[in-house]
Amino acid sequence: MRIRKNLEDFKPYEWQISSTNLASKLKKNNQILRFDTNTSPYISKMWLKKLSSRLDKLNINDYPDVSYNNLKKSISEYVNINQNMITVTNGSDEGLDMIAKTFIDENTNTIISTPTYMFYRIISQIMGGNVISIPRKENFIDDEELILNSITENNSIIFLCSPNNPTGNSSKRETIIHLIKNPNVIVIVDEAYSEFSGKTLVDLTNNYDNLIIIRTFSKAFSLAGARIGYMVASKTTIDLLNIVRPPNSLSVISLALAEIALKDIKFVQENIRYIINERERCKKILDKIKGVQVYRSDANFLLLKFNKLNPNKIYNLLLQKGLIVRNVSNMINLEKCLRFNIRTSAHNDILLTAFSEIIKNN
Ligand code: PMP
Repeated sequence: MRIRKNLEDFKPYEWQISSTNLASKLKKNNQILRFDTNTSPYISKMWLKKLSSRLDKLNINDYPDVSYNNLKKSISEYVNINQNMITVTNGSDEGLDMIAKTFIDENTNTIISTPTYMFYRIISQIMGGNVISIPRKENFIDDEELILNSITENNSIIFLCSPNNPTGNSSKRETIIHLIKNPNVIVIVDEAYSEFSGKTLVDLTNNYDNLIIIRTFSKAFSLAGARIGYMVASKTTIDLLNIVRPPNSLSVISLALAEIALKDIKFVQENIRYIINERERCKKILDKIKGVQVYRSDANFLLLKFNKLNPNKIYNLLLQKGLIVRNVSNMINLEKCLRFNIRTSAHNDILLTAFSEIIKNN
């Protein structure tokens, strides 16, 4: 069957191992612990209770209200940005997909500060874009100079992730400002993990048409399963993005849940505080283990570098214990690395004990 030419050598998204498949392989019931998805270990029973009390009033027979005004209004208050500068999406991945469909074709140079979230490369290649990977400098800092030098006239788009998945560091605000000052370029800043860093660049969208900020409810809001994301940009840019918006991609149930969540920011903030404390506790413990380097993180995950041990071996040994971490050792400059996300302290202890046992015995 004929497929589009640019998909012939295309390397698709690497799906992670399924918990149910692993459980049946290991003959374990409910003992699989995922540390690879960068999601939250918390479920707000209160939000679900509120949702269930509203279910009988939801117009589930109909498509969602096309304006999405209720949710946009709540997001607008949360990020302190005008409502007409927001568009909501089915997870932030759909936002990235809309960006690619709006701005990328075979004449576009997609500049990606790597290593980073692989979806930027994927969406660009799907649209036929020419991917230019700019390796990060020491400590994974964006190479501003090289990025600036890679910008060509009126056909460049830059993807930055802040804090960056999988390295955990944030982009510098001055770097973003230097980049967006060039009107020939569109700058995307993926802030999927920004709530954990306490830093954001959304305010800059008030002054620059060529900046798009991507956000999600999947991480700090603990709602990955509900699939809700949003983008913040100038009204002009949002109008362009909405040209390719798929009709009705958000569910009525998810919209209701997101609105409930935004009325309970306290729950979100408590979880963020807990995760940050746990992250620092885990880092301290791991820092004491010989042969492991732990990078500083602004997000809800940590990146580890193993000086001697093979990360593939560690990954597989953990898998046998029902512990799934993210093997990032196939990524540029991360050959000796694994990433894991922070869960509850009891779960983190299980992983830390497994790490130290594996390191001691290998
Ligand atoms: N951006 C980054 C940096 C991510 O790590 C992820 C998911 N892991 C996403 C976007 C997509 O998240 P979602 O579609 O659930 O909003």
